[in-house]
Amino acid sequence: MSNHHPQTSIIDGFYEPSDYHGAVKMPVHHSSTYTFESAEQAAQFFEVSQGKRAPEPGQPGFIYSRLNTPNLQLAEQRLTIYDGGEAAALFESGMAAISATAMALLQPGDVILHSEPLYGGTDNFFRDMLAHWGVSLQSYAPNETAAEIIARIDKSGKTERIAMLYVETPSNPLNTLIDFEVVMEVRNHIHAAGGAAVVVADNTYLGPVFQQPLKLGVDVVVYSGTKYIGGHSDLLAGAAIGSKALIQKIKKIRTSLGNMAGPHTAWLLTRSLETLDLRMRAAEANARAILNYLESHPKIEQLHYPGYKRQEAIYARQCSGSGATIGIELKGGQAAAFQFLNNIKLVKLAVSLGGTESLATHPPTTTHSNVAESIRLAYGIRPGLIRLSVGIEHAADLIADLEQALKKVTAV
Ligand code: PLP
Repeated sequence: MSNHHPQTSIIDGFYEPSDYHGAVKMPVHHSSTYTFESAEQAAQFFEVSQGKRAPEPGQPGFIYSRLNTPNLQLAEQRLTIYDGGEAAALFESGMAAISATAMALLQPGDVILHSEPLYGGTDNFFRDMLAHWGVSLQSYAPNETAAEIIARIDKSGKTERIAMLYVETPSNPLNTLIDFEVVMEVRNHIHAAGGAAVVVADNTYLGPVFQQPLKLGVDVVVYSGTKYIGGHSDLLAGAAIGSKALIQKIKKIRTSLGNMAGPHTAWLLTRSLETLDLRMRAAEANARAILNYLESHPKIEQLHYPGYKRQEAIYARQCSGSGATIGIELKGGQAAAFQFLNNIKLVKLAVSLGGTESLATHPPTTTHSNVAESIRLAYGIRPGLIRLSVGIEHAADLIADLEQALKKVTAV
């Protein structure tokens, strides 16, 4: 591919209109299976798909749509652009990507060492499903040093069994950053002890525009593509990006589970990727305008935003922007949070984030209601917390909506 900037390659890369009757955009390929020119070619394509031989140059190699499609392939090739990965695997949801990655890289008896807190769905999958298959969990808090984490894992006697270091940064919903330098120090300690821990990072909140963990030593980046990458609240998708060898392993599981993204999802995602940089920067500018407005508001207890009044050094090392999801803690606890949410008009009351429209939700009673209250409170997810995903509407209209809703909050 040419030496273009990511903003150009995301529109032009990996696609030749002349291969598709001159179509400027790749059409959607609604076909479940693909014909071969000969039985020999069929055998050859299967060998390529199983990693037994390299593809011949210029040979498309499509077999059956659970394995690959032109739309899936283009979306995956373009997903590697911002993150700088060798390969990508696209799924029908973020949880499909996370669960397939865990299943591909773990076996019974292994341990996952993960950062706290995690998105509720990931937390449930690790705690309920993986524990069921003999994978155990250890976790650490964002403020722990590498020495503290290492001392604890060594004491457990399972250091070399830690097969995965799983990181979510910024974390949902408090925007707490996990320091990649600490993660790498712990990883190096595990490797020195004879373990082969792979580092996996959920980059949903900032990536790939404002954070690229593969460039900081992470092995596999996972995404809920439903959020900023999809960006229009009209699709569910997930992705894993990393080296060819690791993504090949993950795709092998995906082929067995059949949870790859279909051609239409892949097509929608390819369309969305073209405007990802513009959308994320516009939403971030809006989030900063809202933060400025809320900063001195008397009904606000605390604001949670990456790099804002805490963790500035970590932020400067690993992020180039703060994104557009803000944790807003109201004075007056759950009653105040509910009054606020019941009065927003332009901002929609819904879970999810990263769309063109602004959304707000109450994590303690929705997205994180499955996390035990004691754990929630230990994480700092208190009853007055609202998660606001800022969209790309006009900032003045958003601020006016927040202002009128805050006026109706009396439970402070
Ligand atoms: N990771 C994070 C940080 C999320 O916020 C979510 C969903 O909210 C997921 C993963 C799961 O993604 P999906 O809903 O696309 O399965």
